Amino acid sequence: MSAADGTVSIPRCYVHPDFMAGGFCVSCGRPICPDCIIEIGGKYRCVACMTQITEVAQSAQIPQTVIVQKRKNPVAAALLSLFIVGAGQLYNGQIWQGLVFLGIGIISIPLFPYSLVWMLPVSLFSILNASAAAKEINSGEFPGRPSSKHTAQFKK
Ligand SMILES: [Zn+2]
Ligand SMILES: [Zn+2]
Repeated sequence: MSAADGTVSIPRCYVHPDFMAGGFCVSCGRPICPDCIIEIGGKYRCVACMTQITEVAQSAQIPQTVIVQKRKNPVAAALLSLFIVGAGQLYNGQIWQGLVFLGIGIISIPLFPYSLVWMLPVSLFSILNASAAAKEINSGEFPGRPSSKHTAQFKK
């Protein structure tokens, strides 16, 4: 019998049935009152749809920020350091360590063959260090990260 009172045709907010709707949600199409309208770029959305959209956006952003580091190939890092001392460190993103190794290598070129005395252990260390660092990066512990516990160990 309430259908005869004439107010049924006026859209009412689906959240607040006592309020007249001021617009329709573009996502779900339900009528919403001015209190429930969230206007973005001239389009109306209800609170429920807006929270859904922000939740989806947040959940989509979380894995993007976690998977920032690229995986490094320990074999490639070792091979790079085998051919060019320090190249494996540069490949890993260990810029300073790579430059130090590279610097030792460049200084040693005019001192060949005497430089082999230190270049053999240095290049061997560079190879092992590059390979180990690549494995560490893959396990999620990047030695070059400022907040990492590895940095504290290096400062000793
Ligand atoms: Zn909606
Ligand atoms: Zn409402």
